[in-house]
Amino acid sequence: MISVEEAKRLVLDSRFECKIIKTPILDSLGKVLAEDIAASEDIPIYDNSAMDGYAVIANDVKGADKSYPITLMIAGGSIPAGKVPNTEIEPGSCIPIMTGAVMPKGSDSVVMKEDVQRDGKSILVFREVKPGDNVRYRGEDIKKSDIVLKNSEVISPAVIGVLASLGIRTVKTFQPPRIGVIATGDELLEIDKKLKKGMVRDSNSYSLSAQIMETGAEYNRYGIIRDDEEVLKKSIKKALKENDILLLSGGISVGDYDFVKDTLEDIGADLIFWRVNQKPGKPLAFFKYKDRFIFGLPGNPVSVMVCFEIYVRPLIRKMMGFEKLFRAKVIAEALHEFRNKKGRANFARVILEKKDGKYFFSSTGMQGSGILTSMVKANGIAFFPSDIGDVKKGNIAEVYVF
Ligand code: AMP
Ligand code: MG
Repeated sequence: MISVEEAKRLVLDSRFECKIIKTPILDSLGKVLAEDIAASEDIPIYDNSAMDGYAVIANDVKGADKSYPITLMIAGGSIPAGKVPNTEIEPGSCIPIMTGAVMPKGSDSVVMKEDVQRDGKSILVFREVKPGDNVRYRGEDIKKSDIVLKNSEVISPAVIGVLASLGIRTVKTFQPPRIGVIATGDELLEIDKKLKKGMVRDSNSYSLSAQIMETGAEYNRYGIIRDDEEVLKKSIKKALKENDILLLSGGISVGDYDFVKDTLEDIGADLIFWRVNQKPGKPLAFFKYKDRFIFGLPGNPVSVMVCFEIYVRPLIRKMMGFEKLFRAKVIAEALHEFRNKKGRANFARVILEKKDGKYFFSSTGMQGSGILTSMVKANGIAFFPSDIGDVKKGNIAEVYVF
């Protein structure tokens, strides 16, 4: 049996080759950029108005005020966005200009329409502007040749907007791994079947697939496989051909019908570790097979989800190119006592709350590894390391926030 820290290290030390693919920008949301993006032009490429108003020479309206309006002559028709003006502004004159329109020659600022009263061929200006007021300058957002986006940047809607503004249709991203999910157990029922004594519906392959989906990786469900070595071997082989990571739930403990570990070793998978000094999820196993990774996850519905959170998700994120692999964690204070066995690490499902700038946590209730609703109530997992015993009210612990 190994420690939580050792198990995490062994999983994350895994070597793999990153696959990089060209992705249309709208399909790249949530993925990680696998190249630097340099701007091929200035954005914007021309000085333009930030307001609907009048392009002026700031010096002409110096001192303008409600009680001291200044008159300017309108030198030409209004400049809409998208047109290049051919009128030039001379001292004492102005031109109506719309937001985004090119600044006419001679002007250096824009007075807002709201600060002006139009009177036929002239305007009264009620507020002064400084040179540059309400003007957006060429290159003020992005300068040509600047590295606007760096390799490893997570692609957000704003990143996609910047790519679009630079005229970039596709970008290089890290290809998310494909992840196979196999639920093992003779007692498992498809979810549309009626429950019978002795049987449970397969919830693990659903919660796992959803956890995979949440990472942005691709999942492939292989449904329920009976506790039979030959059947298991066949589906494992098929899933290993089609995926980069394979997750098996159940059958990895020491029961009479737990065949997953032997079957994997039979196929030639290398066991990296089996059994971790933790609760829930002690039977967790990790294997490598050629360039594939295999997790033998415990069958209990809470254990399966917690092991995914702690070990599988960070590996998936690493393969997806993320620099940040783990959930944010906070230091929080226990609101009540937690019975906790010394000598074994514990991941408790907790409700985390913030009061006066401090975090506190309380139990979601029954902590059994079959109480799946505890995962619904939880917004955090508190980590109690193996060297502490009972957690007293007021003691502090690290809590992973979801
Ligand atoms: P095992 O690790 O195979 O001994 O399973 C441990 C516990 O988890 C048993 O109570 C199983 O019935 C339950 N279990 C195993 N697989 C699943 C699954 N796919 N969905 C829901 N419960 C499961
Ligand atoms: Mg089983």
